Amino acid sequence: MNTQTMSELGRGRMKQLSDLFKVKPGSTVTLPRDFDPAFVAGYGPEGGDKAKKALRQGVEILAEYQDRLAAQDMHGLLVVLQGLDAAGKDGTIKHVMSGVNPQGVDVHAFKVPSTEELNHDYLWRYALKLPARGKIGIFNRSHYEEVLVVRVHPELLEREHLPPETRDRGIWQRRFREINDWERYLVANGIHVVKCFLNISREDQRQRFLARIERPEKNWKFTAADVRERAHWDEYQKAYSEVLTGTSTDHAPWHVIPADHKWFTHIAVAAVIAHALIKIDPQYPVVSPQTRKDLDAARRLLLAEAPTGKKP
Ligand code: AMP
Ligand code: MG
Repeated sequence: MNTQTMSELGRGRMKQLSDLFKVKPGSTVTLPRDFDPAFVAGYGPEGGDKAKKALRQGVEILAEYQDRLAAQDMHGLLVVLQGLDAAGKDGTIKHVMSGVNPQGVDVHAFKVPSTEELNHDYLWRYALKLPARGKIGIFNRSHYEEVLVVRVHPELLEREHLPPETRDRGIWQRRFREINDWERYLVANGIHVVKCFLNISREDQRQRFLARIERPEKNWKFTAADVRERAHWDEYQKAYSEVLTGTSTDHAPWHVIPADHKWFTHIAVAAVIAHALIKIDPQYPVVSPQTRKDLDAARRLLLAEAPTGKKP
């Protein structure tokens, strides 16, 4: 098989995988009913040839397209990663981005907002960290926390200095609309948006928390607050269901990524990002006839400088 056909097959695989996880715009999502966190789409077993090849292909396509994205310097790609604690967001970034040039990627993790951030409109701090043209920006948690953790904990909304009349029952649907509008504006201006929700099961979160407590090198990843959040499991499933229903759009679709098997999460997220880049289809700039002439002249000068007896 020639290289051309192989890369076409690779691109086809990325689309196929990406489409498996996409939340159809306009559909109603109910978690955990609609998506199986343990799904591996026939890519098992872990470490098998099929699994290894799929990840390698994804990472290679990512590296190739990221180079083109940077060279063209026209489009940006924002990757939104959401998921409950221990869903695997950090590990996914580490594995999926292993092959790309670090200069072309910015990762931002969003934590509890600072006083300064709370003194601005809720999208402000996310707008500040958007990727530039030519870059991939990864949001490890994102503006979606504003309709997830803030919804599950109404006291957080109290801290946002909002005019009282905006804190009515319609606030969440309004935020969905505002987020959809903001993302539409970004995409229309060349900053593309792709969103992944890492869908972990309750049982696997329990096991990962236990590992974080029992293994000293993982202790730093665990706080008592994580177990308190776990007590709100059902509220989070409901809030996520509404987010996926209300904000998966044609311009910025959500993907529900099975997260119980880390190795498959990495394959799936690599495929979703690779497919998003393939759709952007960035091109290396073609040099103008004048630049071609300048390059040829420079080449002649450099060749003429070769020391005697050395190959040019
Ligand atoms: P981690 O990702 O484990 O480092 O934790 C970050 C914490 O910050 C999580 O508990 C998030 O829910 C919380 N967080 C992130 N964004 C917001 C926000 N906009 N408002 C309140 N809490 C947030
Ligand atoms: Mg945490």
